[in-house]
Amino acid sequence: MSKNFDVVVIGAGPGGYVAAIRAAQLGFTVACIDEWKNEKGGPAPGGTCTNVGCIPSKAMLQSSENYDHAGHAFADHGIEVKGLSLNVKKMVARKDSVVKQNNDGILYLFKKNKVTFFHGRGSFVQAVDGAHEIKIAGATEENIFAKHVVIATGSNPRALPGAAFDEKLILSNTGALAITDVPKRLGVIGAGVIGLEMGSVWRRLGSEVTVLEALPAFLGAVDDAVAKEAFKQFTKQGLAISLGVQIGAITAGKNDVTVNYVDDKGAAQKAVFDKLIVSIGRVPNTIGLNAEAVGLKLDERGFIAVDADCKTSLPNVWAVGDVVRGPMLAHKSEEEGVAVAERIAGQHGHVNFNTIPWVIYTSPEIAWVGKTEQQLKAEKIAYKAGSFPFLANGRARALGDTTGFVKFLADAKTDEILGVHIIGAMASELISEAVVAMEFRASSEDIARICHAHPSLSEAVKEAALAVDGRALNF
Ligand SMILES: Cc1cc2nc3c(=O)[nH]c(=O)nc-3n(C[C@H](O)[C@H](O)[C@H](O)COP(=O)(O)OP(=O)(O)OC[C@H]3O[C@@H](n4cnc5c(N)ncnc54)[C@H](O)[C@@H]3O)c2cc1C
Repeated sequence: MSKNFDVVVIGAGPGGYVAAIRAAQLGFTVACIDEWKNEKGGPAPGGTCTNVGCIPSKAMLQSSENYDHAGHAFADHGIEVKGLSLNVKKMVARKDSVVKQNNDGILYLFKKNKVTFFHGRGSFVQAVDGAHEIKIAGATEENIFAKHVVIATGSNPRALPGAAFDEKLILSNTGALAITDVPKRLGVIGAGVIGLEMGSVWRRLGSEVTVLEALPAFLGAVDDAVAKEAFKQFTKQGLAISLGVQIGAITAGKNDVTVNYVDDKGAAQKAVFDKLIVSIGRVPNTIGLNAEAVGLKLDERGFIAVDADCKTSLPNVWAVGDVVRGPMLAHKSEEEGVAVAERIAGQHGHVNFNTIPWVIYTSPEIAWVGKTEQQLKAEKIAYKAGSFPFLANGRARALGDTTGFVKFLADAKTDEILGVHIIGAMASELISEAVVAMEFRASSEDIARICHAHPSLSEAVKEAALAVDGRALNF
């Protein structure tokens, strides 16, 4: 028996499940296929983000930060903790239950929106009479038909040549989020978002963490002033970060991993770790889609080739999220998912790449939107800058966390906000104001003239906007 749908979405990560829900809201009959299995073999929709990415990493970051605070910061508040102990297995079990709540939440949303969910792998078979035939293999075995297909198959971790992930000693994000005993010596290859977040978790829980990065600059995509402050803070906390290294042979022993590398001075080095996290980027996932056989074009880097509207080379086949060009971020995937569903409905889906926020959930947190100062210089755009330190913010003092600053970059002539960069507590939440402002093409003066609650960290955002015009009030 065949089933026909208006829209079939392959992949239930943030791009796919959101596309499916939006398409259902718009009145289409929708199916979503996802192959992710939980430990019992059941469905676990939510993709990388929910299962081994955004959500579990933030759960572990929060738990490890609580432990760190109890061990260090609480004393400053007059709270003395005696006999502090750590139960990593319980911490990981809590993280697993947070993941499950999210998996269950998506299954509930599918039911609520009448999206038919299939647990299995979806692959293209053929196009017949203007419909795409999709084969489902797994818990469900059947072929279904769709007028429109949205591919949202995400990405996989990139391995280092000669150092395949065994998830016991050489770990991808999957293994890094499932460690149940604190490794004494933890190596991290790659000082990107994932490496720094994972390194922070285990540093707080007691590991000696060494981060090895091939690039000579630390956080090259981040505004220089922020990257400099972050490097200072992370090294002060105890992360040993080596930049400009050249990784050589990696050998896994019985209980440890040896990494040979050449440091930035050209000297050969050897480091031995109890566990090694490799976080050197991610590759688009088109495995098992049977993409080439039906003529779906990939670009030279293996991403599904799409136009600005997320249309692929096949009629009525769309692709969103990590499997296509652009930043590999959950919220970018979601925006594309919504936009594609709306385009299928003949509406004008909208994704503004200039206002996609970036966040690194370390402590201090780092968040930004728009251009960095070095980008503006390179592009020869005349700008004004204003900064405000959290040290001068009353709420930050009350919190006991005055690290970092807010920095505004605005057009020298029009005062339009071109970029906002935050390093400090709750940067991930504070950046939203800047995103909204930039989406509405606000000027720094607009933010400076808006009433912000006192005392709040958001006052530092207002003060940085005032500082663009040299008139910060509290600094
Ligand atoms: C450790 C870590 C932390 C991260 N933290 C953040 C963060 O804080 N914020 C942020 O914005 N981003 C974060 N990311 C990135 C984020 O997880 C991804 O950008 C996001 O998950 C991409 O969403 P997606 O829907 O494109 O793909 P995915 O989430 O990868 O989902 C793809 C889904 O498709 C399924 N699938 C693949 N092929 C098939 C097939 N043929 N048939 C059926 N199903 C298939 C997969 O099983 C998977 O469930 C993090 C990533 C990692 C690894």
